[in-house]
Amino acid sequence: MTTLEENLKKAEGYLERFRHEGVKNRIAGEQVDALSGETFDTISPVDLKPLCKVAKGGAEDIDRAAKAAKQAGKAWAALSGKERKKILHRIADAIEERAEEIAFLEALDTGQSIRFMAKAALRGAENFRFFADKAPEARDGQALQAPNQFNFTSRIPIGPIGVITPWNTPFMLSTWKIAPALAAGCTVVHKPAEFSPITASLLAEIAEDAGLPKGVWNLVNGFGEGAGKALTEHPDIKAIAFVGESATGSLIMAQGAKTLKRVHFELGGKNPVIVFADADLERAADAAVFMIYSLNGERCTSSSRLLVESSIYEEFTAKVAEKAKNIKVGHPLDPETVVGPLIHPEHEAKVLSYFDVAREEGVTIAAGGEKFDGPGGGCYVKPTLFTNARNDMRIAQEEIFGPVLTAIPFENDEQALEIANDVEYGLTGYIWTSDVTRAFHFTEHLEAGMIWVNSENVRHLPSPFGGVKASGIGRDGGDWSFEFYMETKNIAFASAPRNVPKLGG
Ligand code: NAD
Repeated sequence: MTTLEENLKKAEGYLERFRHEGVKNRIAGEQVDALSGETFDTISPVDLKPLCKVAKGGAEDIDRAAKAAKQAGKAWAALSGKERKKILHRIADAIEERAEEIAFLEALDTGQSIRFMAKAALRGAENFRFFADKAPEARDGQALQAPNQFNFTSRIPIGPIGVITPWNTPFMLSTWKIAPALAAGCTVVHKPAEFSPITASLLAEIAEDAGLPKGVWNLVNGFGEGAGKALTEHPDIKAIAFVGESATGSLIMAQGAKTLKRVHFELGGKNPVIVFADADLERAADAAVFMIYSLNGERCTSSSRLLVESSIYEEFTAKVAEKAKNIKVGHPLDPETVVGPLIHPEHEAKVLSYFDVAREEGVTIAAGGEKFDGPGGGCYVKPTLFTNARNDMRIAQEEIFGPVLTAIPFENDEQALEIANDVEYGLTGYIWTSDVTRAFHFTEHLEAGMIWVNSENVRHLPSPFGGVKASGIGRDGGDWSFEFYMETKNIAFASAPRNVPKLGG
């Protein structure tokens, strides 16, 4: 196993070029500065020092990128699915070849531990491979027979897509959107999150080095209210694929209204893990711990509410608290680290404010609840468990987006379901029980887009991913992705001479 020192040295090597050149925009295949010449710093969550300068794009850069995407669109859409498949596989190969570089830079920029980022980089390649294989079937449709008429449907790419992504696992999440968009025959303008922009630039570069034609994938860095807003308002951009906070989704919907944007939203969550006394409790505890403390708890699908049957509540939450206390918090490049520093001091302040809220709300802090003095003195917080909470408390209702778990007891099935559904979000739910009928009942009635029974979250690319209520609009994965990135056309042929109504003689 490598050591932190070895990893730091390697990471510095990978970062060197960005320290020197900065992170630029990429428009029509050219690495360019923002037209205004402005830049901003991306900072290290470890010690808050600048990692590198980033081009601060605005409306005029978005305009150039959208025009480049429009111009490249015809040729890209006209390429056969087989050709697009080849190119996307080459991108997947190139991501695998540079997976270490991606993972190290992602860990440096986000504070996520290298053990998870190494897997996330490879998942990015898997996303490209999966949609590469689907590219040849993207235009397929249905045959629908009517009396004396033959209908068939076909799909065409909707046009340039604006992709707007968050900072938590930026590389993987970008590929999740961009790979199906390209497979469908759309071109892209990507606006990554301002807190962690480095790997987006690497990804666009990798794609073009692998043979993606210039202008098919454009990248504009910048802030939400500048570049992000301009992208959602641009008339050449036909749809917005957005991952981020629910409140931002709502803003984007309003911004895109004038140009009638199609939107796909993957938003926040306050997901319940429901544990019954008849469950495999050891496994359930491991899953609950994994789903809130992995990826620094900065994970939309995290199980941030732990609902436990009252007969086992004390025993179960004690087990979870014990595990939480044993989790190693540390430098993201330390191979032993599970929880690294949170992304940014602003986000750290938000998470810490909930520790105060919890104290005011009078819950028990069974683990953590304070800052951690980690290497570099950055945005570290301890894995935290609040017990004896009620579902109407802010710590049970609001998305904290950190390694913070709120445990609530329940008396019976009905109450468990009521508590589980009593939030504005509806992304995922996790149920732990050995009673099959109960499990079925819960899967029927839980308000969530995705439910796992006796399992942690495992992503299966052909299955639909997405949320209900304030957690999102639309589904990703399998053919669902193509439904968003493409328009369906119906074509009708008379299959026998028709008695066309005669009007006017
Ligand atoms: P955010 O909404 O603050 O920012 C996301 C992106 O939107 C950034 O690139 C930002 O610059 C941009 N943006 C901000 N304001 C904008 C505007 N007015 N117009 C256009 N773009 C704008 O989210 P975040 O803090 O970066 O990420 C955390 C959030 O993302 C959490 O709520 C989390 O649950 C959610 N998330 C959801 C999923 C999912 O699949 N459901 C996955 C990961 C993260």
